[in-house]
Amino acid sequence: MWRSAAAVRALRALRGGGAGGAGAPRAASGAAAARLRQRLENELEDIRGAGTWKSERVIASRQGPHLRLAGGGGGIINFCANNYLGLSSHPEVIRAAVEALEKFGAGLSSVRFICGTQSIHKDLEEKIARFHQREDAILYASCFDANAGIFEALLTPEDAVLSDELNHASIIDGIRLCKANKYRYKHMDMQDLEAKLQEAQKYRLRLVATDGAFSMDGDIAPLREICQLAQKYDALVFIDECHATGFLGPNGRGTDELLGVMDKVTIINSTLGKALGGAAGGYTTGPKPLIDLLRQRSRPYLFSNSLPPAVVGCASKALDLLMESNAIAQSMAAKTQRFRSKMTAAGFTISGKDHPICPVMLGDARLASVMAEDMLNRGIYVIGFSYPVVPKGKARIRVQISAVHSDEDIDRCVDAFTEVGRKHGALR
Ligand code: PLP
Repeated sequence: MWRSAAAVRALRALRGGGAGGAGAPRAASGAAAARLRQRLENELEDIRGAGTWKSERVIASRQGPHLRLAGGGGGIINFCANNYLGLSSHPEVIRAAVEALEKFGAGLSSVRFICGTQSIHKDLEEKIARFHQREDAILYASCFDANAGIFEALLTPEDAVLSDELNHASIIDGIRLCKANKYRYKHMDMQDLEAKLQEAQKYRLRLVATDGAFSMDGDIAPLREICQLAQKYDALVFIDECHATGFLGPNGRGTDELLGVMDKVTIINSTLGKALGGAAGGYTTGPKPLIDLLRQRSRPYLFSNSLPPAVVGCASKALDLLMESNAIAQSMAAKTQRFRSKMTAAGFTISGKDHPICPVMLGDARLASVMAEDMLNRGIYVIGFSYPVVPKGKARIRVQISAVHSDEDIDRCVDAFTEVGRKHGALR
């Protein structure tokens, strides 16, 4: 049957397709939309021009030590995930997710306080609190949300917060949202922290906030000293344990266990999206009245959907595995040691100490990016970081060790680094 062009356009519109056919994107029309497009394109061009464009490699397999990239690149050894314990693809973790999905459904279509709380959410919160030996815990959709939601709910203009200058972006954003008096102390500098604590004595409450382990440098906060200062100046301590939960300390409880201050840290925020199965989710654990208050006041908790059952199932099983035995928590330390000592012997400088985040310090941004590309050509997936993610002149390739890397994986990585480092004159 013949139809006029106008009739065809009308039919396409009815079926949801634009002029380009069903499903083709529709460009918004109008002068304001055109100006916005131009402005965005200029901004994107600036990012490209500054050399800070972040591209995303597409993975066509599960997360794990060995990956297949979309487009066919198989046999890649992966050294850039936060899958510290290898639980992201652990068969029991996957089975627990499937069981939770089947029993409790795809999701709650609700926030927690309306009709989004299932027994598995309560069980997981209880398990997290038990794992960290704290009174209670509250789940969030991410640790970013947990950090965004705590400071505003807890602190007022009568209070003060003291934050390490290299804290994670989500802590910085969370602190921005609160009305407390803000102090930023130099990275892990206890003299500076003490000076700022003295200044902050005039306020009702002082909260020192620090990452337990810093993800760009692989260094661990001096928590013993921080807790001593906190005691001296009547302050509370908050730690973000995203890069510590599950594997630091004899039982994987984190930085506070490693440094023997479990009873001195008041509040812990951490993620379910790294060592604890790697799906998603975050939490706060600490005193019960604080957790009760967060349930009443914390905006990312109150106004965002409940964690999906499959995600809850993964994290719950990961915690079971860690609480059954400390073998998993300890399994990574020897691998980390192997990589750090072999790389140092080969002539590289590795930042941090004893942490599976092993930044290979190179200095020059271009060198870091070219070497990371050469490493991928040799089947080793690592990422170069440069300014503004790290300070100028401190570009590096960040290597992350996982418990499920074999010794052979680690040796292949060191060999490839040595070859590529020699090629680019990057060895000491
Ligand atoms: N805090 C730190 C130190 C992190 O490294 C991250 C993630 O990269 C987050 C918070 C946010 O965690 P999530 O991915 O659960 O939002």
